[in-house]
Amino acid sequence: MPKIENEKRRNWFLDRVGTMVYRNKTKCECSLCNFFYSEGVLILDHTHAMYLFDAENAHNNEGIPFRYFETIDERDEYENLLERMNNQ
Ligand SMILES: [Zn+2]
Repeated sequence: MPKIENEKRRNWFLDRVGTMVYRNKTKCECSLCNFFYSEGVLILDHTHAMYLFDAENAHNNEGIPFRYFETIDERDEYENLLERMNNQ
């Protein structure tokens, strides 16, 4: 990811401390992943925001599409897009 994009994304997480964010489903079926998928994740503080930012990058660096969104609708839209790409 280019540096500026990365910086913008980092700030996206920092700007949302204290709010809920929603992530797409990955292949992991553990209870924690299932819980965060259905309930969303409350960004607790600066450290947590950076943890989520790092996790997002780590997944994508491994080729696993993984992204947090402000709303469930945006998340669902992203998942539909991924599904369409997979079915091409
Ligand atoms: Zn998991």
